[in-house]
Amino acid sequence: MNAPIPLVSRPYAWVRPLLLASRPVLRSAIVPAFLLVLGCACNHAAAATQQVTPLADDPACTAEDRKFMARAYELAAAASEKGNGAYGALVVKDGKILMEFSNDAKTSGDVTHHGETGLVSLTSRKLGITSMKGCTFYTSTEPCIMCCGAINSSGVTRLVYGVTAIQVSRLRGRKLPVKPLQVREVFERAGRANVAVCGPLMEGDGLAVHAAAFAKMDAAKP
Ligand SMILES: [Zn+2]
Repeated sequence: MNAPIPLVSRPYAWVRPLLLASRPVLRSAIVPAFLLVLGCACNHAAAATQQVTPLADDPACTAEDRKFMARAYELAAAASEKGNGAYGALVVKDGKILMEFSNDAKTSGDVTHHGETGLVSLTSRKLGITSMKGCTFYTSTEPCIMCCGAINSSGVTRLVYGVTAIQVSRLRGRKLPVKPLQVREVFERAGRANVAVCGPLMEGDGLAVHAAAFAKMDAAKP
């Protein structure tokens, strides 16, 4: 009769019974886990490929607005090139660019540095707090609530945006808000009826900038 093998020579002897005991649990968990991973992968892959039909240009926009919006989209693309979200803004006085800014919230480590807040901050520090009075403010995408506050404080009297914010959410496949708060409503409720809001403008071009930025972000993910 063979002597029993001492436990010391089988240091992982406890593994087998443990695996056997947990086999039903593992079996029931594997399929849902696989489906979860597959679902995430599909969502991830589909996230930047949603088809979005650009909205028509606001007829209140002018040929000059188109020229400056093209520049706002260049600034948005430049932000993406540096690793930030694709947003850019510029302020125009008497037909000339006073200042421009590309979103650098990520690379600066300052979450308040959106395209619009960054532009208002930079311009008021460099040129004075009244320098934007009566100017036209161009932004590549409809501003968020934080940026609306900064624009509201800047003294501009006209705001032109390119892409409607909710269209970016559609492009990215994000869950849409039930009652999206749009920039016109924000300004109206803030009592800034003297700020004329125009947009969307050249939305197809702006959505293409966002789509390229999302593709770049997805490609960089491990
Ligand atoms: Zn913002």
